[in-house]
Amino acid sequence: MDQCDVAGLSPRKVAYLKYLYERDETARTGEIAAHFTVDPSTVSKTVRELASTGLVDHRPYTGVVLTGKGHEYAEFLVRRHRILGLILTHYGLAGEEACREAERFESYVSRDAINKMCQSLGHPTRGICGAISHDRGCCVDEG
Ligand SMILES: [Zn+2]
Ligand SMILES: [Zn+2]
Repeated sequence: MDQCDVAGLSPRKVAYLKYLYERDETARTGEIAAHFTVDPSTVSKTVRELASTGLVDHRPYTGVVLTGKGHEYAEFLVRRHRILGLILTHYGLAGEEACREAERFESYVSRDAINKMCQSLGHPTRGICGAISHDRGCCVDEG
């Protein structure tokens, strides 16, 4: 399975992909704009960039939806957020605070680092803000 490198995605793109993943259905650009309280033209531009990397499909009359690749990718983004959130709660941050702080830096943490942290936590299945699912790259022991 080819795992794309998520380190290059901007925090905004990460947030959109996680939103589409949680929503689990087509979203209109206007709805995304309302959710993030940004201008629809900003959303359109970001969605175009995501579509050009094959992570989302943008259908003119229905809206934006994750592709298979985008879905797999977003699943990791959600796991990354929740693993980092759990780690922060171990160091004294409360639930929502841990979520918020994780969002400030999660985009810069590599998949490899997350897999190691996930393993050291024993592959938890629940984070602060929801379930955590583990892909093969995370759960298969090496060697
Ligand atoms: Zn959270
Ligand atoms: Zn795991």
